[in-house]
Amino acid sequence: MLEIKNLVFGYDKNSPVLQGIDMSLEEGQVGILLGRNGAGKTTLFKIMTGALKPDGGRILFDGQDLLQMSRRQRAGIVAYVPQQLDFGSLTVYQSVLTGRVSYYTVRPSRKDLDVVDEILCETGLDKISCRDVQELSGGERQKVAIARALAQQPRVLVFDEPTGNLDIANELLIINEAKKIAHSKGIIVISSIHDLNQAMFFGDKFFFMKDGTIKYFGGPETFDEATIKDVYGVSARVVTENGEHYIQYYKEKENE
Ligand code: ADP
Repeated sequence: MLEIKNLVFGYDKNSPVLQGIDMSLEEGQVGILLGRNGAGKTTLFKIMTGALKPDGGRILFDGQDLLQMSRRQRAGIVAYVPQQLDFGSLTVYQSVLTGRVSYYTVRPSRKDLDVVDEILCETGLDKISCRDVQELSGGERQKVAIARALAQQPRVLVFDEPTGNLDIANELLIINEAKKIAHSKGIIVISSIHDLNQAMFFGDKFFFMKDGTIKYFGGPETFDEATIKDVYGVSARVVTENGEHYIQYYKEKENE
């Protein structure tokens, strides 16, 4: 279980960005952070991966505080999938193997190579393992970035806008892939997604950030007209069709 408790952070002491973030996720759950640009989603991810140090609060994984761990220890629990990974000129195999660097010092062991082989098979990347990553499509590269993070054998996968640079077909491919991985491997996924319909489809639990806190959270029922209006300032209703929920944006009449 991942628990974030009263996390506080400011780039500058006079204007805190995170003013007491509380949230929790169970194994295998996909949690989505929502909120306007500047709400603090990337900042929270950076704290989780150790790139920034918070001013207060705790991040517990199964009771152990991630903030007290060494970089190497934390890398065995949390892996980060960036929006764009600059692999340089490496093959798919070599790129995924770089995910194991926190496990070996000089040369990868048999175990490291076995883990990489297994992940390449699971993600279907084994068929293109000798290709240069720079020659791949955006969707394939994003898949390599996920595989690289999985090579760390993390318990928590952090995705900052995983589909930011992808076309719609690749977006769905990546979202499906990530959801499958979370549910089948019992990994906690925590992600930010701008598109509310994709967020609803991808997530199990939703956290709406506003004014430095998690203002609303819960299951799909958290998406309602009042919440969307408060967080984003736009008018939208949730439509249910054949058991599926959709967000439908609408224009308010001038005199409303
Ligand atoms: P989001 O990911 O939700 O768009 P961010 O975490 O990127 O939000 O930003 C939260 C706030 O912190 C914004 O007001 C942003 O301008 C500010 N911020 C982000 N990075 C820095 C930085 N390196 N130095 C100072 N302020 C920053």
